[in-house]
Amino acid sequence: MKPPRQPVSLSRREFIGRASAGAAAMALAPHIRAADLPPPKLGIAILGLGGYAGGQLAPALKLTQNVQITGVVTGTPSKGLNWSQVFGFPEKAIYSYDTMARLADNPTIDLVYVVTPNALHKDHVIAAAKAGKHVITEKPMGVSVAECDAMIAACRAAKVKLSVGYRLHFDPYFAEVTRLAKDKDVGPFKRMGGGFGFTMTEPQWRAEKKLAGGGPLMDLGIYSIQAAGIAKGEVPPVAITALEQPKKRPEFFRDVEETIEWAMDYADGTRAEFVTSYNGGANRFRAESDKGWIDLSPAFSYNGLQGATHQGKLSFEPAVNQQARQLDHIAQCIREGRESDVPGEMGRRDLIIIEAIYKSAAQGGKRVEIKV
Ligand code: NAD
Repeated sequence: MKPPRQPVSLSRREFIGRASAGAAAMALAPHIRAADLPPPKLGIAILGLGGYAGGQLAPALKLTQNVQITGVVTGTPSKGLNWSQVFGFPEKAIYSYDTMARLADNPTIDLVYVVTPNALHKDHVIAAAKAGKHVITEKPMGVSVAECDAMIAACRAAKVKLSVGYRLHFDPYFAEVTRLAKDKDVGPFKRMGGGFGFTMTEPQWRAEKKLAGGGPLMDLGIYSIQAAGIAKGEVPPVAITALEQPKKRPEFFRDVEETIEWAMDYADGTRAEFVTSYNGGANRFRAESDKGWIDLSPAFSYNGLQGATHQGKLSFEPAVNQQARQLDHIAQCIREGRESDVPGEMGRRDLIIIEAIYKSAAQGGKRVEIKV
């Protein structure tokens, strides 16, 4: 049976063409010493070949300098075959969730990128760590702090690095947030706000607590938490207050929130107020100090971010690929044996905040103190 076409957009011919161009260049330059060559790319296996893997990570993997795809883990063999043909890795590097312990025997795979529904991250991260592979897991890192603890412990025990797919850290608009926060003529930021939401119409796992762990907060609200982290130099808030809005489509959002608003208070008096929803569009982040501000809209998209500061419109050219930069950064950190800028501990911090938001909302907006 012919495998269905997947949204993987690098053709085999293009891939092989590029590989042989590299080989030809090498043959023309036999005097190049090993020390002059860039270090070999790390090999990555993508686990979970759904929308984000095919739509964003596959194109990013065409651009990465430090990492290349050398395998996949999937429950759908035809998808695995398609990826192996497109990227040129052997069929024996297609694993299923049940056979992924065998990753341990494949030296071409250095790390595994977990891109399955949220509630599956924990088991997949732990299985990858047990196979001796470094791990990146998509956001949210898990669906509870306890799950994050288990993942961090498993990666420590296996002596592998754990990072989260927090792509905003690799976008120049958020680098500008960091720069302004540190600029003595602007920062520190004292007020923040914004939100991320869309109207969900198709039934999907994101609206099921069992697989998603929650509603838009787990999926989209986490971006506002990340943005606030970037604007505050990763200093966490000390207290949370939150309110869930009454559901307009309770039959659709049976066991997850539809819209939730929350505030985060910081030890230095900073206050951040955000909203996230599956029943209305929003895509904005704003941070203000007494001396300046930055306002991004769209703030959280894969590309095409726009924004302005008190000094005028922002423009960063050429456009970057957030995911390629994220992958290259994490691979570089693994090579150098250091933690990435988006480690598992950051994912755990965000789950502490998320749990406090749900706790406050469940108590009708009662202030919940947190300690990260
Ligand atoms: P998706 O539904 O498109 O893909 C999920 C994949 O997991 C599918 O290939 C599916 O077959 C597989 N899977 C394995 N076991 C499953 C099960 N029991 N139930 C359902 N699917 C199962 O989802 P997605 O949009 O690719 O999201 C995957 C992860 O990536 C989520 O954690 C999500 O939050 C994250 N994500 C991150 C970004 C980002 O910008 N960083 C964007 C989108 C998604």
